[in-house]
Amino acid sequence: MTATTGYLRPQTIDELLWALSAVGAGAKILAGGTDLMLAVRAGRAFETLINVSRIEALQEIALVDGQLSIGAGVTVARLLRSAEVRQAAPLLWQAADRFASPLVRSRATVGGNLCNASPAADLALALLASDAEVTLASRGGPRTLSVEEFILGPGKTALSPGEALLGVRVPARGRERFCRFEKSGSRPALEISVAAVAVALDFDGDAVVEPRLAYGAVAPTPLRGRGAEAAIAGRALSPSVIDDAVRAAVAEIRPIDDVRASALYRRRLVAALVRRCLLDAASARTRFRDVAG
Ligand SMILES: Cc1cc2nc3c(=O)[nH]c(=O)nc-3n(C[C@H](O)[C@H](O)[C@H](O)COP(=O)(O)OP(=O)(O)OC[C@H]3O[C@@H](n4cnc5c(N)ncnc54)[C@H](O)[C@@H]3O)c2cc1C
Repeated sequence: MTATTGYLRPQTIDELLWALSAVGAGAKILAGGTDLMLAVRAGRAFETLINVSRIEALQEIALVDGQLSIGAGVTVARLLRSAEVRQAAPLLWQAADRFASPLVRSRATVGGNLCNASPAADLALALLASDAEVTLASRGGPRTLSVEEFILGPGKTALSPGEALLGVRVPARGRERFCRFEKSGSRPALEISVAAVAVALDFDGDAVVEPRLAYGAVAPTPLRGRGAEAAIAGRALSPSVIDDAVRAAVAEIRPIDDVRASALYRRRLVAALVRRCLLDAASARTRFRDVAG
């Protein structure tokens, strides 16, 4: 690979898409640089870096027709300051609240977190469990994919050459929807997840409706927990149902041993985190029923 020789700073999405198509395979988008600059420092070189931080259209957060739209260039710090994000996308807000240090939060973006495609990407995990969609665009036009379709493996996404991620759309959650993001590293927030769990669900009476569970850092991509979802859907969160969900979760994850933890430890963490989230959901339901009389 040749050294990085070019540097572009487009001001609009049109200029960005033009630059991607003109430079071709040697182009690399630079957002906050918290992942990319580590790679550059470790010796990776790209023909041309395209810095997207001046594109205002990528910085927007807007709630329109029950959908929260978040630009790819929105930083973690901005997510945390946004009342719309906190209300309409609480899983994403909670993930931002457990993300790195203030310094990293001020640079790291939603787009970089999705496009870096780490199995431990916290925002990607929260977006997966929130049924979010990503919007991609090239000079050929835009397209929309689910987060599950977008992240294909460690460092691998569905982005085609010449394409950029413009943003995500998250269906605004109903007021009563229970949402919980739990992450475990050796410190509570400052660190990449050893394992993480995101849970969102509604209740109809005591029965769980439309559950979403997803796991981070325990498979090649953030992973939707369809087995655990099936274990709780339509049922009250009794101790035995929670046991079923924990068993299903442990059976469907695919953790590995690495420098941060063993696969066995990650299985135990996921079991504990799923149990904690579902016990919290059950007590939130009981509190709501008591208050509602
Ligand atoms: C000390 C430290 C702590 C961290 N803690 C956490 C943590 O707690 N949780 C967590 O999830 N991550 C963590 N990270 C990882 C990193 O901060 C995040 O993944 C961050 O969201 C990346 O965003 P960025 O804007 O810095 O991306 P960049 O580094 O600029 O880019 C990352 C990748 O995305 C591509 N890209 C960026 N934007 C676009 C776009 N619009 N379209 C197409 N491609 C694009 C780039 O080309 C590159 O391949 C940490 C990193 C560090 C250094």
